Amino acid sequence: MDYVKLSQMLFPEVTDTPETLEERYPQRQLPEGAVVTRMAPSPTGFVHLGNLVQGLTSERMAHKSGGVLFLRVEDTDAKREVEGAAEGLIRTLATYGIHFDEGAILDGSGRISDQGAYGPYRQSERAEIYQTFAKQLVREGKAYPCFTTEEELDELSQINKKEELKNTDWQAEAEARRAEMLARRNFTIEEVEEHLQAGHPFVVRILADGAEDKKVKFTDLIKGNMEIPENDEDFVLLKSDGIPTYHFAHAIDDHFMRTTLVIRGEEWLSSLPIHIELFKALGFRLPKYGHNCSIQKIDGETRRKLSKRKDPEAAVRFFAEEGYMSESVIEYLMTIAASDFEDWRRANPDADTDSFKFSPKKLNPAGSLFDYAKLTDVSKNEIAKM
Ligand code: GLU
Repeated sequence: MDYVKLSQMLFPEVTDTPETLEERYPQRQLPEGAVVTRMAPSPTGFVHLGNLVQGLTSERMAHKSGGVLFLRVEDTDAKREVEGAAEGLIRTLATYGIHFDEGAILDGSGRISDQGAYGPYRQSERAEIYQTFAKQLVREGKAYPCFTTEEELDELSQINKKEELKNTDWQAEAEARRAEMLARRNFTIEEVEEHLQAGHPFVVRILADGAEDKKVKFTDLIKGNMEIPENDEDFVLLKSDGIPTYHFAHAIDDHFMRTTLVIRGEEWLSSLPIHIELFKALGFRLPKYGHNCSIQKIDGETRRKLSKRKDPEAAVRFFAEEGYMSESVIEYLMTIAASDFEDWRRANPDADTDSFKFSPKKLNPAGSLFDYAKLTDVSKNEIAKM
């Protein structure tokens, strides 16, 4: 297969190259050990308590090391976007002492604008950058177009679901999926040409080269050492409207924004095999990762994750509405986030929370429990101090 020709057919209008992008976004000149990290919210209008823990962790890691904290708006899903959500998040975090040095941040007039040399900081404005790399991966034979339509995919997953209900033969099912994937990889350049001429939309998929029964060693800054399976699925990089999936955008953005550390929720841990493969395919160095544990609560007999729908305390705004000062909330969150915070507080009763030395190794690796009574107690002490 002539991959160069294929890439040109799929992306005739893309003229940037990986080299021009490397030049446009040079390495940052920062002191040794300085951490560059970010928050990358999807602007859906809900600031979760987990966002605040992530923000606190990221802010401390960046600013204690003389590094940079920036904000990137992950607005590739226009359907879920809520107007003004990014502004709301920035303002909320600011009341908790979390300020950004760079990114899509508020300017003097209270509007979001790009500040910094690594933008644009809204993913919706970065389509060309993603397409440059989709083209590059196709050119190198590491990714390929797939013309299966959304409807066909929906149909397939319906069939799979029905099959799943009655079929517990997982092995047969896995084999069927594998066969389907291999069939997708099998196409000729003439077939692609026909599709393109007929105006059929396509997605771009990675050509996975891992095997699920093989493991990769990985060290998470918060969770410690682990072994995770390699990725063996041809996941989608670019959707048919040219918009990237989270995975693809994450790898490209964090590379070109020169991120050294990614702090994010543990719900992303299961996507790590995909990310490791992607960074390798792109020839990028993997950043360090720290996956924050989820915040949980006791609900009757069970312990479960705080839910956006069921628990008002899952929303950061709840605390201000209930009259808790931001200092109290931070003080409390530190006790659940960092296992050594309470000892430190006993030894330094009057010290500013900001002078606590924050170490990711001491971050709680398992789910932390949200304890309302304790928050109230911490809050009482904070008020008494005043
Ligand atoms: N947009 C993703 C989210 O809001 C970002 C995850 C990340 O920090 O990489 O969950």
